[in-house]
Amino acid sequence: MAITTSYSKHGKGRACVITRRACFSSSHRYWLPEKSPEENFALFGKCSLSPGHGHNYELIVSMGGELDSDGMVLNLSDVKHSIKDKVTGQLDFRFLNDVWPEFDMSNDKGILPTTEAIISVIWNRLKNDLPLTSLRLYENPNLWADYYGKPMEALLTVQTHFAAAHRLAKEEISFDENKKIYGKCARVNGHGHNYILDVTVRGKIDQRTGMICDLPSLQTIIDDLVVEQLDHTFLNKDIAFFKTCVPTCENIALYISDILSSPIKNIGANLHKVRLQESPNNAAEIYVEQNIPNSLQINLENSLVTQT
Ligand SMILES: [Zn+2]
Ligand SMILES: [Zn+2]
Repeated sequence: MAITTSYSKHGKGRACVITRRACFSSSHRYWLPEKSPEENFALFGKCSLSPGHGHNYELIVSMGGELDSDGMVLNLSDVKHSIKDKVTGQLDFRFLNDVWPEFDMSNDKGILPTTEAIISVIWNRLKNDLPLTSLRLYENPNLWADYYGKPMEALLTVQTHFAAAHRLAKEEISFDENKKIYGKCARVNGHGHNYILDVTVRGKIDQRTGMICDLPSLQTIIDDLVVEQLDHTFLNKDIAFFKTCVPTCENIALYISDILSSPIKNIGANLHKVRLQESPNNAAEIYVEQNIPNSLQINLENSLVTQT
């Protein structure tokens, strides 16, 4: 006797965002033909050297839509082929400056193939094939760009790290009271972490240099003002601010975002987010341009209204 199975239509018509990862290895060179060799070197350092250098790029494509009766937003095989046909198949093992006309610098409209410029061009080339919600492109594990389809605006993230010790305790209360609040983190001699810091800036991509801001300047700001100051310190004792502020992961992230905001503004970008990872188990994120606690409150209020 034939057995008929009835499949649940649980997901049909409901919204979901899916992601697909694809990799390519390409070379590039930062070189503006309208500038002298000295000017190019001053602007781009070793990235200006001939014949170029390469990266193993990792692309994350996010797409949104409603589930069909097969339980999928899109057929992943079609997604895979679109990305290969339109992007990775064209860029893999190629010299980016030559492969796509958008990066032809002999043309006045050419843009240098920086991470943020590459991702904006990929968006334009994929947007008619796939329902994109965002793209992320890693140039290496410590540098990546995000693009959300807003013309020539991107996010650029630099990852760095530092090691520091701290103790979570308030001077004005007893050890037992501190232990109740902070647990083992209140132990008197402190403990340490290898902090991983992600600094994300937002800005307009320059039509010619392909850059949101000068990357070496951004890295110098982070190195000089944060890493150099905090690395190998006992935060409570060595950093004046933390003599009167408990150096929780949240407070350190806020401290870093307050320090970085205006120097980043001075190089033409906006500090968008600071993410500080204290251990594999916990991290704090500061969305500098948005008031997250208020928006969370609004969402909570909305959900309460919906329930009643
Ligand atoms: Zn490069
Ligand atoms: Zn700790």
